[in-house]
Amino acid sequence: MIPRPILAACALTLALAACGKPEAPAEQVAEPAISTVAPPAQAEAPAPASASGAAIVADCATTLEGNDAMQYNASSIAVPKDCTQFTIRLDHVGRMPIAAMGHDVVVSSEADMPGILADGMAVAPDHLKPGDARVIAATRMIGGGETASVTFDTAKIATSGPFVFFCSFPGHSALMKGTISVQ
Ligand code: ZN
Repeated sequence: MIPRPILAACALTLALAACGKPEAPAEQVAEPAISTVAPPAQAEAPAPASASGAAIVADCATTLEGNDAMQYNASSIAVPKDCTQFTIRLDHVGRMPIAAMGHDVVVSSEADMPGILADGMAVAPDHLKPGDARVIAATRMIGGGETASVTFDTAKIATSGPFVFFCSFPGHSALMKGTISVQ
């Protein structure tokens, strides 16, 4: 059964992404690493990655955006292999409150994601079980206009994967999910 909010979001985003499609195929072509050529930040004309694109990485960090349509602005993060630590910052660019449209960024193995979501579903506001050892990294849950970040050791995602990042707010990971890997 698909919760109604997801269906609504799907209707809004059909044109954008793989809403409702099965998982991405195993043989995904690696996306080009753009970390070493990221341009300096420009005050105007920001060009956030599309929902189907790679997050912009610079200085062993990236900034994801989450919006009121239950979307991140990127679907993959390539962590440069010379980074020993990596920071993910989340900007909630929407306006809805945390209880209605909370977003966070959780990093785990893909295999652990369903269990993390199930055990955290009833835990408000963070929707993560306290001390969940399967969680490699997680920002706090935030509402519209807020920002949060987390830094973690890249060694934790350098071994057996695949690893993913996702929002643990109930239902959101159907759209708010991507891959993260050391490259
Ligand atoms: Zn969310």
